[in-house]
Amino acid sequence: MQKNIVIIGAGIAGCSLAYFLAKTGWHITLIESEDDIAKGGSGNPVAAIYPKFMLNDVAYNDFMLKSFMHTTAWISELGLSQDNYRFDGAIEILDATYAQKLAYNLSRKNLCQNNFFSLINESILDIYKLKRHQSGLFFHQGGWVNPIALCQHLINHSHIKIITKQKITSIENSISNWIVKTEDQRVFSAHDIAICNAGFVNQFEPTSHLQIDAFRGQINWIDATTLQMPSIVTSDIGYLFPRIHDKHVFGATYALNDFTKELRLSDTKKNIASIKEIHPDFYKECLAQESISGRVAWRASTKDRKPYVGSVFDAQILKKMRIRELTKAHQLPWLKNLYIASGFGSRGFTWAPYCTSVLANLINDNLSQEDKKTLNYTNPERYRLKKMSLKKIANHIFEV
Ligand SMILES: Cc1cc2nc3c(=O)[nH]c(=O)nc-3n(C[C@H](O)[C@H](O)[C@H](O)COP(=O)(O)OP(=O)(O)OC[C@H]3O[C@@H](n4cnc5c(N)ncnc54)[C@H](O)[C@@H]3O)c2cc1C
Repeated sequence: MQKNIVIIGAGIAGCSLAYFLAKTGWHITLIESEDDIAKGGSGNPVAAIYPKFMLNDVAYNDFMLKSFMHTTAWISELGLSQDNYRFDGAIEILDATYAQKLAYNLSRKNLCQNNFFSLINESILDIYKLKRHQSGLFFHQGGWVNPIALCQHLINHSHIKIITKQKITSIENSISNWIVKTEDQRVFSAHDIAICNAGFVNQFEPTSHLQIDAFRGQINWIDATTLQMPSIVTSDIGYLFPRIHDKHVFGATYALNDFTKELRLSDTKKNIASIKEIHPDFYKECLAQESISGRVAWRASTKDRKPYVGSVFDAQILKKMRIRELTKAHQLPWLKNLYIASGFGSRGFTWAPYCTSVLANLINDNLSQEDKKTLNYTNPERYRLKKMSLKKIANHIFEV
């Protein structure tokens, strides 16, 4: 039987899922509402990839590290041209005490191998043209990628058919297929379906219960400057990229439920202010510019900042079940052949490639123990189960 799937949304989540499935023999119809792929959150000129850890959340840090290691190794082997990605380091400027505590916690939990990160010292400050008093962490394998080039590369496969300018308005389950309908009355069908449309994941009936927030973000850039600039991604309150394709990108703002598409001067000013400490001379150069280019897009975030990756329940079956029956992982009423990869927030280029590789393993019924741990962590039904006082099962949908 031919394995066919419709994927809704052609950002990094949809494109990387299409990539992993095409490699395992699937035929993919990738449907995008915009006139091209990578026009939403995944359409910025550059995206930072480095592990942003939390001080005390071991599960989060573990997920972050797994994603980061997977994604950087995978991108390095894709055959993208060297001017579209670089993993030669990333700096996170942090308060000195915080940086030390974080470094201590990461080493204590054995989360990172040797030479994965260093506390910033004078030699790092010198090499990367940073101010003397700064502190923080240097991630040796951090870096950046060109999102559009990456997405284009991923869908270049004879089994992946791209359909643009088609907004899906409904999905329905027929006897053996999923039927999707578009605003223009076009109809597509496939045995499996994956919803990768970021902040719109809850627009469809089977996934309407998934909570998701949209955070507007604006980035800005100026043309290459003659100033001596850091040669790697540096983040502080904001982030500053090295010279990439003759521009320096910096940003980004973060605003909940703000749907203004146009660039906003006040946000440009915020972005300029956010890199003042990283590079005071570059900051002055930005202030002196008459106009500054930029781009606006939205991040899709869940309340606990963890993505939704996996399956959802069949509401009809769920209604008929008693709470007691839901305490056993093997009895959970999963909706068949419908999958989700959404809610990647500000970390889509670290998380989505890893998570969609795991999702492809779920679709192919080929899960490793690590995959199961990841799907326990990203379970899209965690809120519904927790509301029913089933917190334990929410985090253990797979036995590991
Ligand atoms: C300003 C800003 C800066 C960022 N910087 C970074 C960074 O440095 N590093 C990093 O890792 N992440 C960064 N992010 C986050 C990152 O961009 C996102 O996490 C990532 O792009 C999410 O990918 P996605 O595929 O889930 O969503 P998207 O790229 O938004 O893709 C979803 C697609 O679904 C389509 N769609 C929606 N509804 C429908 C429908 N009904 N029918 C058909 N198609 C539909 C949309 O048009 C869109 O193309 C940033 C985000 C912003 C806004």
